[in-house]
Parts: sequence; C-alpha cells; structure tokens
Amino acid sequence: MKLTVIGCGYLGATHAACMAELGHDVLGVDVDAAKVARLQAGEVPFFEPGLSDILRRNLDAGRLRFTTDHHAAAEHASIHFIGVGTPQEARGHRADLSAVYAAIDTLVPTLRGRHLLIGKSTVPVGTCAELAQRIAVLRAPGADAELSWSPEFLREGFAVEDTLRPDRLVLGTGPRPAAAEGADEPLAGAVLREIYREILEAGVPFIETDWATAELVKVSANAFLATKISFINAMSELCEIAGADVDALADAIGRDPRIGRRFLNAGLGFGGGCLPKDIRALVARAEDIGAPRSVGFLREVDSINMRRRAAAVQLVTEALGGEVLGRNIAVLGTAFKPESDDVRDSPALAVAGRLALDGALVTVFDPQAMANSRRLQPSLGYARSARHACERADVVVVATEWAEFVHMTPEELTPVVRERRIVDLRRCLDPGMWRAAGWDHRALGGVVTD
Ligand code: NAD
Repeated sequence: MKLTVIGCGYLGATHAACMAELGHDVLGVDVDAAKVARLQAGEVPFFEPGLSDILRRNLDAGRLRFTTDHHAAAEHASIHFIGVGTPQEARGHRADLSAVYAAIDTLVPTLRGRHLLIGKSTVPVGTCAELAQRIAVLRAPGADAELSWSPEFLREGFAVEDTLRPDRLVLGTGPRPAAAEGADEPLAGAVLREIYREILEAGVPFIETDWATAELVKVSANAFLATKISFINAMSELCEIAGADVDALADAIGRDPRIGRRFLNAGLGFGGGCLPKDIRALVARAEDIGAPRSVGFLREVDSINMRRRAAAVQLVTEALGGEVLGRNIAVLGTAFKPESDDVRDSPALAVAGRLALDGALVTVFDPQAMANSRRLQPSLGYARSARHACERADVVVVATEWAEFVHMTPEELTPVVRERRIVDLRRCLDPGMWRAAGWDHRALGGVVTD
C-alpha cells in the first residue's frame, strides 16, 4: 500500500521505516531539510538500535523515500500518518499543537479525491474533534479527508520491536457519516487492518474506539506509568528516613501480579520527551474541559518526580562534605534513559547542569547523547569516555543506568579518580563491590543492601 508519514522524528522515522519493512511504499515528509537529507542518505539522525538496518534495506529496495515537500505527499498516497512533535508549550503546561495544525494546514488543501489521515502523535483529548472542523474548512471542493487517531506506544531504545510487535493497536474514529444516500462508509478500520495485516495475524489485539477514547488511552497509559515511578520514589523518601530498603520493598510488592515489578525502580525518576509533558498536558486539558480534580493527583506525581532531582544534587553535595564549589564531578550518563540519545527533560542532564550552576567543575560522558547534551548544556565538560570523565574526580555520579556504567569496576576507576566516592542515582551498582574496594558508595533513595 502507498503511505506517507508526516513528521520524521523518533516516532515518524521509525514508523516510516517499519511500514516499508512490512512491504508498503512509504514517503516520509519532514520540515527539517537536514534531517530529511540524512534519512534519505540512510543515516538515522538519532540513536535507535536496529533502525539503521531497516532504514537502509528499505531505501535500497525503493520502498522508502524522504522529502520536505508536503505536496509530494498528496500525490504519493491517499493514506497519511501524522507523527509530528507535540511538545510542552514554552509558557505553560499545555501541549503545543502548532506542528499538528501546520501539518494539517499544509496537507489538506492539496488533497484531491478521498484520503485518510491517521494521527499518531500524542494529543490532548478533544483534538480530533477540533481538527475535523478545520479539515472541513480546508479541504478542496469534492475532496474528502477522513480523520482517525492511532496513538503510538513505542519506547525509545525498543522502537523497532515495539512498532513491528506492539502490545496492542488502538484506532479512534469520528462519528459515522449520516446514512444519507451517497455517504461513504468510514475507511479507517478496514485500511488499518490491511496496513497492519502481518502484525494482526500474529495475534496483536486491535482496539477500535472513538476519537476521544483513543486520545485518552495514550495519555492515561503514560500517566499510569509516571504514577508508578513516582509511587516508588515517594516510598523511597519514606524508606530513607525509616532506614528501610526500597529495592527489597519493590521486590516484595512487585511479586503481587496486580502490582507487578516493572516500573518500580526507585531513583532519579522519569524524564524524556513524553512522560513529563504528557502528564502536564493531561492536567491542563482536564482543567480546560471542566474536570480539574480528576487528575489533580498528577501534579503530585510531577512534584515527587522533580524532587528527586533536587535530592540527587543534595546527595552529591553531602558526599562532598556540603560544598561542591570548585570540586571535580564526573557525571556518567546524560540521556533520560539508557539505549537512547534523547536528553529532552533528562533528569541526568538537569542534575549535571545544577551541580555546574552550584560551582562544581562537571565533566560528563554518555555513550550516545553527547551531541544532544552539548547543544543544551554547552558549558559542561565533555569527555571521550567514562574513564576520561572520571580523571581527577572528587566524586563519580552514575545518572543514567547504561550497561557500561553498571558493569564498571573499582579497579578501572581507582587509578584515575582523586577521591574514591561514587553516588548511584539509579540504584544500579553493586554497593558491596565498591565498598570492598574502599569507595564511599551512596545511593539515591537510601539503604542498598549489599
Ligand atoms: P521529534 O521532535 O523527534 O519529531 C517530530 C518531527 O516532526 C521533527 O522531525 C520535526 O521536524 C517534524 N515536524 C514538525 N512540524 C512539521 C510539519 N508541519 N510537517 C512535517 N514535519 C514536521 O518528536 P517525537 O519524539 O518523534 O514525537 C512525535 C510525537 O510522537 C509526539 O506527539 C510524541 O509525544 C509522540 N510519541 C513519541 C514517542 C517517543 O518515544 N519519542 C513515543 C510515543 C509517542
């Protein structure tokens, strides 16, 4: 089938390549000419394991192309996925939908005949209803652009796997057209079943619903995950005061299948381009539609999460005897999580930046996120390896749990650091090993059992 994907960032580039991998003929469209040039040259502009092979294979096979020309989209296909960014507004907590509107405004007037628009970006509830009104005004006489929403659940670091083998597919469609003679039956359900035939044949559930539910499914899933993380971090605050072990607690409560162990790792909390902005946008939209109390608890989820960053800075400061001014601090990890180069709202980078503002000489290293980090925090020191970052360090701070940091040993670092101090903000190190080698080991969230 012929498809376009409008917006080729983390979501869109992955979606375009994976749709081509399923055998479809895909045109990716993005306003960022440099990104389009790199994708067209077979280069993934961000770190995503496995994506590069799929991208190149499908470019070579002629099933995948990229362009900046929205008009080409209208000519290439009658099915258009929309995966543009929906970041937090610059001056508030709402989602900034300007890219979604821009994509619709550019594409819709150029469409002729019958087209299907399938939104994948994360949007506040009510967006489809608003967009549908806009589309009705913008479309050319006689043209039809049916709007549906199929939110995306992929995780960075597992994006290919999540796109080709998702836990579920969700499709929200609008009100059915009046049964008047000549009114067309909606296309979306049948078309999506055909696009995803191979995936659905593998037994992936396909949940068909209305626009509002589909919009809410995505943000409520993220709100639930954020709540789970903040729940265990709130428990870690208690554990710290009570002298209890939050990891043992998580293991014990996680054994209950109604609770589950995943997303119960205490530490520095969540970040990235989705969870923080999605919960804030959900609270803002709930207020806008007259339900301010329904998700008011998410403010607390956000605030628990942001407290972790302050607690991390405090823990590092305490490890240095109460003063960071002029001290050498190595921060290992700047990405918001391992297996990603994404530093959007990264807790690790925020902690590094705060320590630098407090006067520390901060040197960072991340296996993949160096370029992105440098763009956001140009004044930090950037090292070429973890070992290099730790040279003459007064304290080593593990801020993102990349495997290479988890598997680091005291033997590697002892010869290069000035002081044997390590602060584990992700509770991912073996404290016994570090203490046995004479290191001062501290973990965010209190006691770690050896
Ligand atoms: P991103 O910033 O990496 O990509 C967005 C892309 O849209 C950019 O390349 C930008 O140039 C392009 N763009 C902006 N305006 C455009 C226009 N008018 N026409 C064409 N392209 C345009 O963002 P992302 O992480 O890919 O997120 C995209 C959406 O997917 C967001 O709504 C996000 O919440 C959602 N989402 C992201 C993930 C994830 O893990 N990154 C997972 C699920 C859902």
